[in-house]
Amino acid sequence: MIKILFLALFSLNLASFCQENYYLLISRDEAFISQISEFSDIVYDSGRTRAVKLKKPLSDIPSDIKVFLKPVKIGELYNAPADHISKKAFNKEISDLISTINLSTYKSYVENITYSGKRNTGGLDLSSDSGNRKTADFIWEKFSSFGYKTEKHCYKDRKADKECNIIARTKGNFENKRKIVIVGHFDSVGYQDAGADDNASGAAGVLELARVFSQYKTERELIFAAVNGEENSIAGTYALINRFKETGDLGKIDFAVNMDMIAWNKDGIIEIETNKEFKAKAEEVASLAKTYTSLKPYIAMPAWGSDHVPFLEQGIFSYLSIEHWQDHNPCYHKSCDKIDSLNWNYALEILKLNAAVIAENK
Ligand SMILES: [Zn+2]
Repeated sequence: MIKILFLALFSLNLASFCQENYYLLISRDEAFISQISEFSDIVYDSGRTRAVKLKKPLSDIPSDIKVFLKPVKIGELYNAPADHISKKAFNKEISDLISTINLSTYKSYVENITYSGKRNTGGLDLSSDSGNRKTADFIWEKFSSFGYKTEKHCYKDRKADKECNIIARTKGNFENKRKIVIVGHFDSVGYQDAGADDNASGAAGVLELARVFSQYKTERELIFAAVNGEENSIAGTYALINRFKETGDLGKIDFAVNMDMIAWNKDGIIEIETNKEFKAKAEEVASLAKTYTSLKPYIAMPAWGSDHVPFLEQGIFSYLSIEHWQDHNPCYHKSCDKIDSLNWNYALEILKLNAAVIAENK
């Protein structure tokens, strides 16, 4: 009995020791990746989900590296095909709706955003005709032209400009209605006329879905949020959450769809990333992918590093729709993240999926 108890305690301690020592990488910055490799061994690596075991105590790790490490339990790490999930019943109304997504319209949005100049919020980009500012204005005009209540939500003063999200809401009285948020960031790391995949592709996706849903009646309010400052600590979405708290909208949000890097791909796989408490909901998304798209859905957990995270932290279901990271975009966060490397048909499939998710839960 004592022996069993001792063994049980020993294995419990061993388990907690191992768990304490595992960290999810919440950055893929090249400098960080090479630094962390000196201090750790990779213990899990599938798609976007990578965890390491430290070779030294956390206190011995330099603080600029430590900020990109998140403690994780080995059992929380998951990134695998949703093969066990079956198709959702086909609905002609949804199929008709997603057939109105227009690839040339979407392309024109991606081009407009990519060729605006530099879209970074950190660092150099402070002039009033910066790419970031021009993109915000472009998105504002598009949302307004689709007939939405459009708002420039500014949350930070820069030297010569303000840092703002652009928000579009369904017209009409939706104050007491449940809400769905469709989010994607339009800032980039700041190379001239780049950031096509990260994340002109997702911001343009928010615009194209806004255009499509402007012609479609929903019970819920749709809130399209083209957010800023994602590349600087997800600043725009954290500010948006605060705004939703002030306006009383936060508790009425059913879920949030995030599009970040949806247009570079070679294998047809989409990662649907969330946290473990929402795995079943992510599987619902995967089942819609099987019904309405040619995508091969993977479920990825836990969530890190994009605009779905602030929603999940509030206990609101959110998923990131993102290209498969196993076969990585070689131009991620580089000046070569240009339009000519994008896979348009793949992006179209992700737009179809997210439109189907919204329509299914409208
Ligand atoms: Zn991004």
